[in-house]
Amino acid sequence: MDVYGLLGNPVGHSLSPPMHEAAYDELGLEARYVTFEPDEDDIEDAIAGADALGIAGLNVTIPFKQDALEIVAPEDLAARIGAVNTIDFSGSGPPTGYNTDAVGALRALRDHDVTIQDARAVVVGAGGAGRAIAFGLADAGATVAIANRTESKAHTLAEEVPRATGHGLGDLERLVANADVVVNATSVGMESDATPVPADALHEELAVLDAVYSPLETRLLRDAADAGATTVDGAWMLLYQGVEAFEIWTGRDAPVDAMNNALRSRL
Ligand code: NAP
Repeated sequence: MDVYGLLGNPVGHSLSPPMHEAAYDELGLEARYVTFEPDEDDIEDAIAGADALGIAGLNVTIPFKQDALEIVAPEDLAARIGAVNTIDFSGSGPPTGYNTDAVGALRALRDHDVTIQDARAVVVGAGGAGRAIAFGLADAGATVAIANRTESKAHTLAEEVPRATGHGLGDLERLVANADVVVNATSVGMESDATPVPADALHEELAVLDAVYSPLETRLLRDAADAGATTVDGAWMLLYQGVEAFEIWTGRDAPVDAMNNALRSRL
């Protein structure tokens, strides 16, 4: 029996257990996915303990993604993003840390036939999700404009991300009008029917990914659909970060449809 899990606090509402267990069921794997809620001071002991107990892999979520970076051997992309959300214990050395949020966003876009190479991308938000997505898009060959409510954070991030520029939200109208890809990596749209992107700037040449997955149909995605743009909801990103983690841990292609069905039936 292989044991996988999620380290976070809180983790009670996580959709990762049903998504991963659907994959084990589909492939007939003897595995379980369980959640762990260590105290903030115990994260290093928790990861060492998981390693000692032979746990095969862990996802990591708030508030431990930055702490985990200091404890495991991070892969280059995770180190540049500054956060680890997936730990693989299968090697003989220290556990390896990955950031699958970045790849999750890329795979969500590619699944919808969006080309990233040479795309002009706008990332709205410079928090944890914005950092991961901006690095992911730039590594995949896009030119990235980062716009954030606190403009200084956009400039700071843009100095780290190759070829990126930093902006305030006031530049969005102009940036989006000239863009191929827009990603909302803010929490706007979760609590209220609001959007960070002016609807007038959306157009039919655009692909719009909203990282928000609750609700699935945000105002941004409704506006984007009205403008004739390609829309990608946040559940696709959530799905593909899990797919990527599954593939890192098992070395097998993930049963994407089974995982997607398990996820969407709970959203
Ligand atoms: P975070 O680190 O707390 O960052 C929040 C971001 O939202 C910041 O850029 C913040 O701007 C901005 N923001 C918050 N309220 C705003 C407002 N009223 N107007 C404009 N900007 C506002 O959070 P996070 O971890 O990056 O998560 C951001 C969103 O992505 C959440 O909805 C989360 O659920 C989602 N997410 C989805 C996935 C997925 O797999 N689909 C994965 C990760 C995250 P300031 O810097 O100015 O505060």
